[in-house]
Amino acid sequence: MSLDSWYERLHAAVLEELPAAVELRHALHADPRRSGDEADTTAAVVAALGAGEGREVAGTGRLVRIGTATGPTVALRAELDGLAVLEQTDVGWASGSGVMHACGHDAHLAGLVAVCRAVARVGGPAPLLALLQPREESAPSGARDVVLSGLLAEEGVRSVVAAHVQPQLAAGVVNATPGPVNAATDEFTITVTGHGGHGGYPHTTHDPVLALAAVVVNLQQLVSRRVDPTVGAVLAVTQLDAGTSFNVVPDTARARGGLRVMRESDRTALLTALTEVAEHTAAAYGCSAQVHTESNEPVLANDPELARAAVPWLARGGVEVDDSWRSFGADDFSHYCADARGLMLFLGVDGGAPDAQGRRPGLHSPRFLPADETVGQVATALLAGYLAGAQLLGT
Ligand SMILES: [Zn+2]
Repeated sequence: MSLDSWYERLHAAVLEELPAAVELRHALHADPRRSGDEADTTAAVVAALGAGEGREVAGTGRLVRIGTATGPTVALRAELDGLAVLEQTDVGWASGSGVMHACGHDAHLAGLVAVCRAVARVGGPAPLLALLQPREESAPSGARDVVLSGLLAEEGVRSVVAAHVQPQLAAGVVNATPGPVNAATDEFTITVTGHGGHGGYPHTTHDPVLALAAVVVNLQQLVSRRVDPTVGAVLAVTQLDAGTSFNVVPDTARARGGLRVMRESDRTALLTALTEVAEHTAAAYGCSAQVHTESNEPVLANDPELARAAVPWLARGGVEVDDSWRSFGADDFSHYCADARGLMLFLGVDGGAPDAQGRRPGLHSPRFLPADETVGQVATALLAGYLAGAQLLGT
């Protein structure tokens, strides 16, 4: 059967699955679990898939083979965890537990189930694996642990596809950018040490607060002068900590923040420059600086061929396709992209009811609640990714 015929057949089967998938979304939304504690959510999704128990992975995660076909395989991934957020929506299926699906994972899971059940029922052009991933929202990363388990390689996974809601995109648009689309992230801590003393006699001190303030300002030139600004990078100081009193100059002052880049060479260049600027600026104020950094997610780079192959299938699904949007957000999906072809499809959604100022809620807001149609959009995106993955397997 041609891929065109498979698409028609699967598209019709997915539509039949949607009402039940929307019910599943409500059930998952009403009863979410935090990162690392997703066993009940996993059980509910595994039951809805109706394809057996699958293999445990990364603690509460699960790999469920859809149908009996094995060999080079396409995996569809969705995240199991909610966030420690007290929901502030008024739907009947709101969560009251202080945990909330405020990042759309309920809709991602439901859309994945719709596609997998359709393939189980009518067949498909390539072996398919449901990848139910724990701990997307927390460290250590669930995706990293799934990759380290080696089970994806054992299952013959060649492509991993996911969809994520994104209220920064216009509702109804699906994004498939070839190459880097989400940032690599590093945390940094800068500790400036001076010599404290009486606030009335600052000339007898080496003031670390003033030195740190200068460091924070001087760091802002790095993203425009040390790396190509057309590629882009983000350096944000988000936490300051110094002193205990209005009339005492402290001995130390501390800043924390994040560095986000789209390519590895920029990361190296900026981390070197960050240390240089912090140390030399502090020295100019008679102080010293120590910089500590910690790496989080790598760059999320979509496989260019897989992204391009998905576009015609997305268009067949009736969605408007965007192929250039990127953001300096991060998602641990990036870990899959090192070993397999990876494709993250971002879906434009309205985040929920607007507030008094007309602002719609964003990801992780207690009012974030994209409409139920999102489940169908997720399914359309994942189906397109599955067809694209099958196409690249040569089936
Ligand atoms: Zn998320």
